[in-house]
Order: sequence, then structure tokens, then C-alpha cells
Amino acid sequence: MAFALVDTHTHLNSKEFNESVAEVVGRAVAEGVRQMLVVGIDRASSERAVEIASQYAEVFAVVGIQPNSAHQATEADWKTILEMAAHPKSVALGETGLDRYWDHCPFDVQQRWFQLHLEQAAKSEMPFVVHCREAEADVLAMLKEAGKSQQLRGIMHSYAGDMETALVCVELGMHVSFAGMVTFKKSDALREVAAAIPADRLLIETDCPYLSPEPKRGKFPNEPARVRHTLDCLAVVRGVSSEELAQQTTQNARRLLGLPEPNLE
Ligand SMILES: [Zn+2]
Repeated sequence: MAFALVDTHTHLNSKEFNESVAEVVGRAVAEGVRQMLVVGIDRASSERAVEIASQYAEVFAVVGIQPNSAHQATEADWKTILEMAAHPKSVALGETGLDRYWDHCPFDVQQRWFQLHLEQAAKSEMPFVVHCREAEADVLAMLKEAGKSQQLRGIMHSYAGDMETALVCVELGMHVSFAGMVTFKKSDALREVAAAIPADRLLIETDCPYLSPEPKRGKFPNEPARVRHTLDCLAVVRGVSSEELAQQTTQNARRLLGLPEPNLE
């Protein structure tokens, strides 16, 4: 069976790929990664995401302000983000969320921007992409509040939190996406979480250029062609075939993000 994977989180808009986007997209497609999302972290990278998405049928854009750059974002940036969100190749808002690991942006500013994304997602009926680093309780509190009035449609990206948080997110309607970290030797607890996510809420991603999965760990830059290693790891953990998990995760991504059937010619 031909694979048709979706890499739900890449940063092909980062400078590491300036000279190589065409090659990297080509290698991804050759490995069965038929669709991929390019995610913005600020205004400029969101603009670049839309630009790449306009150039490649396989690429879709996610536009937003990441918590670690929120202190530099202006109202004018947000206006531009909203305009770009209406682009036909934009499929979600983000990445947004909260981060207590880095100390770049005051926490209340991060919360204000996360709330803006959540409200806009509800208003425009767009899914949203959540970055959460050492801020599980804070993210959950805001998601629960947002989830009071609606079933949430979003992605917990590069998930690295605990079981309980993941299951509450699922209850609120969220999808949970795993990156290369789940393949690392020390990640037994994370693999247990990955085994417990309902099949229809599971997604895969590279988060490239970071987090190359085993057996490519440490090889920089990571790229979408390597998402297959994460798929294979999750298939083993869940006791299903890679084919079955490929089909399931791709169907999940297409349904959540409204991606078209790719042209498999
Ligand atoms: Zn990211």
C-alpha cells in the first residue's frame, strides 16, 4: 500500500531551509509524506509559511504568534495574521500556547495572546495549534475555560506532557500530536501516553528542523521525510501496523484541518 502521511508541524519557514525547501518537500513526497503544515511563530515566519504554501500543493500554512515571541508582537502584526488566516492555503491558527521553560516573554503577555488565538479560532471556526512547555496546568485552565461553550478543535503539538493532561485535552475535543521525542530511549512514559490516545485523535509531526526521531536522533536539520520513523514507533507502541496507523492519522489530519485528497499521480 502506498503511504500518504501528513506531517502536521514543520518549520520549513525557518532559515535552515531557505535554500532547500524544494528539495526537502520533494524528499518528503518521495517518502510518502503527501501533505505538510508549515507553522508560523511570528508575523514574518507566518508570512513565509503562506508564501511556501502558495508555491507547493503539498504545503499548508498555520499562522500565529508563538508564546516566546508574543512580547514582540504588535496589534498590526495580529491584523496581518488575521488577513493571512483567510488565505485559501491557511488551515489553522498558531502556534500559540504557553511556555515556562524559556523566559523570553512575560507570562501574562503569553496568556493574553493565547486567549486572542482561542477567541479568534472560535469566531472563525478554525482549528488552532498549541505549544505547551512546562505549562500544562496553565494551558489546561485556559482550554477548559474556552471549552465551556464549545467542543475544542485544536492540536496539542509535539506533546511531551503527562497522561492526565493528555486525556483531559482529548475530553475537551483536542487532538494530540507526537514528534521525534516519543522515539527516544528515555521516553517510556510518553510512549504510554501515545498508546492511550484514542485512535481518531492521534497525529504525527516532525517539528523540524528540531527533534530528529530515532534512528536519526541528533541529525540536524530534521525534515518531514523522517516523520515515518515516528509513525513506525507509534504503530509498535499501539500494536497496529504502520499502514493502518498511517491511514488513521492521515484521515484525522484531513478531517480536522480540511485538507483535500492529495493527487497521488
Ligand atoms: Zn513549532
